[in-house]
Amino acid sequence: MVPRIDTHTHLGRLRRDDPGLTPEGLLSRLDRLGVRRAVVLAVESPEELDYYVPTTQVMDWCARHPGRLIPFCACDPRHRYPGRFDPYPVLAEYAAAGCRGFGENLCGLPIDDPMQRRVYEACARLRLPVVLHIDRWINRDAPGLPGLERIVKDYPEVTFIGHAQCFWREISAEVDPEGLYPTGPVVPGGRVEELLSRYPNLMADLSAHSGYNALARDPEHAAAFLERQRHKLLFGTDLLAADQRIDIAAFLDGLPLSAATREAVYFRNAARLLGLPDDARALGG
Ligand SMILES: [Zn+2]
Repeated sequence: MVPRIDTHTHLGRLRRDDPGLTPEGLLSRLDRLGVRRAVVLAVESPEELDYYVPTTQVMDWCARHPGRLIPFCACDPRHRYPGRFDPYPVLAEYAAAGCRGFGENLCGLPIDDPMQRRVYEACARLRLPVVLHIDRWINRDAPGLPGLERIVKDYPEVTFIGHAQCFWREISAEVDPEGLYPTGPVVPGGRVEELLSRYPNLMADLSAHSGYNALARDPEHAAAFLERQRHKLLFGTDLLAADQRIDIAAFLDGLPLSAATREAVYFRNAARLLGLPDDARALGG
């Protein structure tokens, strides 16, 4: 079996009505999905969800399973009085302690707000990739994602990873501004493909219902899209609850993909991004 790296998971209590996952609970779900390593994202913005899961807690949990769990750090750009917060020293300390990326960016500001740009600037200096959740409020952007294109252009040292509804609906050239989980065939020429093709520092994760839906709404388009963008896509689940349904793994297994594409999306791209061995055996495949 091709080993998998999951670039998008969560630990801890995030929702009032759910206890969330313990490290051991997450690992038992990952075992069943063939996932050998997983990125655990911190949650430090008030928009998602009912509670915070701070970076320090994520680092402590990941330290219990250093061969399996990889911590990412986060900080909300709105700390302190406007213009007074410098995220660099905070993030530098996290990076020195072993955090391999910034995420999840869940900040309820425009995606290219000046406060957000200070975070991207720090991530550029520290060479931290940034996971961007993009919806109607968090990291908000105009149709066609012009703000995303500006930051991708302005910070070429940062690998940005697109995720969530308002990113993935742009897989189609026809976008309903009210629709978050569009159905039906993808119209070729969407902005997601255009931006992925144009910018080497933009990638996308296939996690959550948004990632799955962008592919499953049009399986024929999905197979061709995965082949074309195989170096830009990352396997991910967005696991955060013990009973959460995960469809992406079985869906990808059912698609007629080349072995090279399967390996790239399941683990090679993530290994490259995270500085892990790009080798199935070393990952325990
Ligand atoms: Zn997430």
